[in-house]
Amino acid sequence: MKITVVGGGYVGLTTAVCFAHLGHEVLVVEKVPQKVELLKAGKSPIYEPGLEELLQEGLKNKRLDFTTDLKEGLAFSEVIFICVGTPQRPDGSADLSQVEEVARETAKLMTSYKLLIEKSTVPVNTHKLIKKTVERYIRDKSIPYDVASNPEFLREGNAIEDFLKPDRIVVGVESERAKRVFEELYKDFDCPIIFTDPATAELIKHASNSFLAMKISFINMIADLCEKTGADVKLVAYGMGYDKRIGRAFLNAGIGYGGSCFPKDVKAFVKMAEEYGVDFGLLKEVEKINQQRPLKFVQKVKNVLWSLKDKKLAVWGLSFKPNTDDIREAPSIKIVELLLKEGANLSLYDPEAMENFRLLFPEGKQISYAKDMYSALEGAEALLILTEWEEFQKADLKRVKELLALPIIIDGRNIFEPSEVRALGFEYYCIGR
Ligand code: NAD
Repeated sequence: MKITVVGGGYVGLTTAVCFAHLGHEVLVVEKVPQKVELLKAGKSPIYEPGLEELLQEGLKNKRLDFTTDLKEGLAFSEVIFICVGTPQRPDGSADLSQVEEVARETAKLMTSYKLLIEKSTVPVNTHKLIKKTVERYIRDKSIPYDVASNPEFLREGNAIEDFLKPDRIVVGVESERAKRVFEELYKDFDCPIIFTDPATAELIKHASNSFLAMKISFINMIADLCEKTGADVKLVAYGMGYDKRIGRAFLNAGIGYGGSCFPKDVKAFVKMAEEYGVDFGLLKEVEKINQQRPLKFVQKVKNVLWSLKDKKLAVWGLSFKPNTDDIREAPSIKIVELLLKEGANLSLYDPEAMENFRLLFPEGKQISYAKDMYSALEGAEALLILTEWEEFQKADLKRVKELLALPIIIDGRNIFEPSEVRALGFEYYCIGR
């Protein structure tokens, strides 16, 4: 099939390279010319395992191309995946201006049937707004079109695999014509395909993300309780997780969820519910708990080290999760801010996210970026762990101890076994155990 993807970010690029890999012809419309140039040269502007390889494969097989021109994108195919950003507005609601722009411009340029597919995460009933916009701006009212919802559930860091082997595919359609396109598109996928109306599909995505965020906040509260009672949150999660109704995933206590999805999607879901007259107090609490996590972590650091003024601290991990360079809404941002306010000097290291982090926190009197994880430690009074990258989990702890000025680890992600680290002579503080 021929497919147009509008928006070449994490979701759009993953969608594009994967469909090309599956044998489709894909044209990506990305409005930032520098990104298009990079992509055409086979270089990914984002770090996502396996993505660059598939990008190069698609370019080589001539199944993948990039443009800044929406008109070209619309002429290329009738299947249009909208993968633009839906960031947060100051009041917490979703900013749908990028989606509106694509709908409006598409309507103006449309000369034949188009299937407009929302892959971006949007509040329920956004498809109605897209339809209204198309109807308003379309030049020839007799041109048929469909709007469908096909939300994306990929996780950054595992995006390619998640896209190619999803747990399920959700498709909200209103016409047989649109349904047939999806049946063809996903015929080789070995997972349930759930066909619904668009509103239900939109709601499934927001409900799923909010539920997962709720699991994280829930286990974080259990962690607080464990710290007060001497219980071990990792074992609590393990014991709970064996219950099929609960499941083990997303029960990792730590410094809270971040990233470009959970924080904004929970807020947008609460806001949207409010607009429909539903007070989703449960999710407000989920968010409140999450916002407190970085503060609690910094309080833990202060409890251990007392004053932080002029103390050198090593920080491992800046991305909101491992295997990505994404720092959007990462808890590290808040934690670094608070540590700087306390007067600490920070030596930061992350395998992929330092370039992005530098844009927010340039090198200076209190901030330096280390060339590798070990050099970050030299002379530091403690090591703080903010992301559970595998290379940190495999660290040579004897070397860590030699390099640190004091053998103190404050681990916000529970990556080590407390008894083992303590046996090596560390003071080891973690979350809920
Ligand atoms: P992103 O910011 O990485 O990418 C969006 C891209 O769209 C940018 O490159 C931007 O330049 C481009 N763009 C914006 N307007 C455009 C236009 N008019 N024409 C062409 N390009 C345009 O965002 P993302 O992380 O890929 O997320 C996209 C959507 O998918 C969001 O709604 C998000 O909530 C959802 N989502 C994200 C993830 C994730 O893990 N990142 C997972 C599932 C769903």
